[in-house]
Amino acid sequence: MAVVALVSGGTRGIGSAICRALKNDGYAVAATYHGNEEAAGRFTRDTQIPVFRWDVADETSCYQGIARVEQQIGPVSILVNNAGITRDSMFHKMDLAQWRAVLATNLDSMFTMTRAVIEGMRERRSGRIINISSINGQKGQSGQVNYSAAKAGVIGFTKALARETAARGITVNAVCPGYADTEMVAAVPEAVRAAIIAEIPVGRLADPDEIAQTVTYLASPRAAFCTGSVLTVNGGQYIAN
Ligand code: NDP
Repeated sequence: MAVVALVSGGTRGIGSAICRALKNDGYAVAATYHGNEEAAGRFTRDTQIPVFRWDVADETSCYQGIARVEQQIGPVSILVNNAGITRDSMFHKMDLAQWRAVLATNLDSMFTMTRAVIEGMRERRSGRIINISSINGQKGQSGQVNYSAAKAGVIGFTKALARETAARGITVNAVCPGYADTEMVAAVPEAVRAAIIAEIPVGRLADPDEIAQTVTYLASPRAAFCTGSVLTVNGGQYIAN
């Protein structure tokens, strides 16, 4: 039976590229989404990958959703926590709703989605947790105090959980993408996009598949000794240690 990989926010952008790459490597992939039925329908028609709708910011929905996936497809051996949103604003104009929405979707979801699969992984003494952070969680970004805080939190979550789970055969790693050519970045004003590209030594945005390839590496047996690590994939825009 194929190993099951679940990708949150797998129907669009980077998540969609991750799903396709994992399927290509032979995993039984499932994708979650929030509410964009059109994108989810197109994705599942194109890829034949099953999709499941729930809000990763909602605790009960996560437990129920994972239970549905495990019942229909099998125990989740690889969890890619990818779903994320932005609610950008300068901090002095940011309201608590913008802060809470971003923290709930990008960081609380790490807790709930991972909590829902971790006991099964511990019992089976194997598992892969791969968390999508961001360059802006490493360097901070103005207009994104909420997002930068959440994505930096993802890195701390990854490192601490990696220590707890290593002896049980479970690896936990983070990937920090730079700016990729997705709808999230398309929403940024043209002048800001041009300024971002000018900061990237490679001279372009990432193809989402270039992010996906780091995820398939971390999911694979080749990465068995890699845990608690933060893989930076940003075209040289920010070279962190
Ligand atoms: P997109 O906006 O293209 O896609 C987001 C996906 O997440 C969609 O499938 C969406 O579902 C899903 N999603 C959003 N909110 C929720 C929710 N509350 N519950 C369940 N699913 C949800 O995002 P990207 O591909 O651009 O980003 C993917 C990840 O990569 C994010 O964590 C992002 O922060 C990170 N990242 C992105 C970068 C980039 O340049 N794009 C750079 C660095 C990091 P639906 O379609 O139904 O809304």
